[in-house]
Order: sequence, then structure tokens, then C-alpha cells
Amino acid sequence: MDSCYDVVVIGGGPAGMSAALVMARALVKGCVINDETPLEKFQDPTYNFITNDGLSKCEILEKSKSDIGRYDNFSYIDDLVEEVGIDIDGYRIRLKSGLSLRAGKVIFALGDKLDPSSLGIEGIESIWGRSLFTCPYCHGYEIQGKDVVVLFQGQADVNLIKLLGIWAGAIRVFVGPGVEPRDVFAAIGRVAEKTDVSEARIASVNSESGQLKSLITEEGEVIPADAIFVSDMESHPNHLIDSIYTSKKLNPMTNRELYETDQFGRTGLGDVFIVGDAKTRFSTLIGAAHEGFIAGVMVINDLLDNPA
Ligand SMILES: Cc1cc2nc3c(=O)[nH]c(=O)nc-3n(C[C@H](O)[C@H](O)[C@H](O)COP(=O)(O)OP(=O)(O)OC[C@H]3O[C@@H](n4cnc5c(N)ncnc54)[C@H](O)[C@@H]3O)c2cc1C
Repeated sequence: MDSCYDVVVIGGGPAGMSAALVMARALVKGCVINDETPLEKFQDPTYNFITNDGLSKCEILEKSKSDIGRYDNFSYIDDLVEEVGIDIDGYRIRLKSGLSLRAGKVIFALGDKLDPSSLGIEGIESIWGRSLFTCPYCHGYEIQGKDVVVLFQGQADVNLIKLLGIWAGAIRVFVGPGVEPRDVFAAIGRVAEKTDVSEARIASVNSESGQLKSLITEEGEVIPADAIFVSDMESHPNHLIDSIYTSKKLNPMTNRELYETDQFGRTGLGDVFIVGDAKTRFSTLIGAAHEGFIAGVMVINDLLDNPA
């Protein structure tokens, strides 16, 4: 027989584990299912998550598992959710191991799978998270005095360049077709003193153990560099959420479609929540933890009125 829960949380990053913790402490019967395999790649330090500054995502997961492990009413399963279906009295969740669960409510906290290969630069996947970054607040401090590259995608990157000016020794901006280097110089203010703007196209990167060494342009020029920042890249589609909920809304700031939810992560399905990167594409660790906590609180309150 299927195991039945009040709530199943899919994804054990900071969003899912924070949701789990607040619900576990409110005696909700639930479970988190988290596929640990992709995390094997994330052994590198992360920053700005207070009390966890400098810990890797793997270390943060281990700490979260020990927090959740104190509560008997909430379990943690390392497995991949392959299917979520709507049932007569809730949701049926099928796992890769063959296990099938039933839940009254589902919280999707399964992150967003950014796809660096979408940048079209050979070898760039191998430096993702080690010397290719999206967030200067998270990874700026470590590039102090270094040679930093920005792949310019639009006006929003003007602020990225200004921010990187806090730390970088030198900044080289690669602009795409239709962007005038002089417009970039004019927009970035005093950071222009340490910035070069290039119209060359990058063909590939040279790296060792994830550390960028140089870029190679389509013309064959080799440019030494220590890190690349890019504000956005494509994501892999989220088939699991899409199979039961497809309502999306355009975010005009990023020109990306995001799942439509209320401010607490509740979808139009009522009993289904989407939180963290799965909702925003980049919540940050502390932001995702906050979103998960709020969705957990909503579930607790729902169960007061409609106990399972
Ligand atoms: C390379 C990199 C470096 C970063 N550095 C920082 C940093 O220094 N500081 C910072 O604040 N933020 C950083 N971020 C951003 C931060 O990691 C995310 O914003 C945050 O982890 C989002 O949390 P989340 O819980 O929404 O998703 P995640 O942390 O991505 O967790 C989602 C979990 O769900 C699991 N999952 C996915 N699909 C399934 C499924 N079908 N079944 C079961 N489990 C599933 C995944 O395996 C994963 O464990 C970084 C991001 C990246 C990619």
C-alpha cells in the first residue's frame, strides 16, 4: 500500500528543508524527497547564508538532514521523483526506486537547472560554479584583484559591471552584435577606468579543475582570465511541475516566464506550492529558505481548517 502523508516536499535544498522543518515542528506528517546525485557536483563553498558562510551545498544538506532527523513525524528520502499525478483525494508521487506515495499537498522545491551550455561556448560547463558565476554578491569577494570577464547580455548588465568594480582588478566585457562599446563605457561610470570592451566572440574556454585559465576567441586570440560572470542563461524545462501546473507569468525585469503563484508560493491548484529557484530561478540560499518557511506555514494553517 502507498504511504500517505499530509504533505510531500519535493527537493531538499534550503527551500524544501526549511518548509520541512517548520512543518515537522508543527507535527505535520510529511516527507521530503531529495535526489542527492546532482549535488555531488556542488562541493564548492557558498556564501551569504548566515551561520553557513563558506559551506558547500553538500555540507548545508547534511546539516539540514540532521535538523529534520530530530522529528519522527517527518521523513527524508534520498530518491528521484519521476512523476506527480493528481488523484481523487490529493496527489500521487512516484519515485525512481519504485516507491509510490500519496499526499494531500505538494511543495515543489526542486530548484532550477540552469544550463551553461546554452551560452554556446565550448568547455564552459566545466567551470560552472567554480569560475563561471551569476551572482556577484555570492562570488565577488573571492575575485578580488583578478581578471574578470562579463558576457554582456543587455542593459541589466551595466549594474553587474559596476558591482564587479568593487572587487575585480580588471574587467573585460564581451558585447554581442548591436551593442556599441562606447555606450557601455558611458553607462558604467568610474568602473570604466579598469574596463575593456571587446566585440570579439568567445569560442571556447581553457580551464584546469574548474578554474578558468583563458578564453579563446573565434579569431584564435588567447585572453587570460580568472572568472566569468553572466547574469542569465537558459534553464532546462521543469517537466515534473509542468505535468500538473503550467500557469506562468512574464517577469518584465528578466523577460523570463515564471510559474504563477501568490506571494506565499501557492499555485492556482490550491494544495500545490512552488518555492525557491523552481519559482524565481535564483532565490539565493537564504531567500529560498525564507520562501520554504513561508509555504510551510501556509500548509500548517491550511491543515487547521481542513485536517487530513
Ligand atoms: C553554482 C552555484 C553557486 C551558487 N552560490 C551561491 C552562494 O554562494 N550563495 C547563495 O546564497 N546562493 C548561491 N547559489 C544559488 C543557490 O544555490 C540557490 O538559489 C538555492 O540553492 C535555491 O534553493 P532551492 O531549495 O530552491 O533549490 P536547490 O538548492 O537547487 O535544491 C533543489 C533540490 O531538489 C532536488 N531535486 C530536483 N529535482 C528533483 C526530483 N525530481 N526529485 C527529487 N529531488 C529533486 C535537487 O537534487 C536539489 O537537491 C548558487 C547557485 C549555483 C548554481
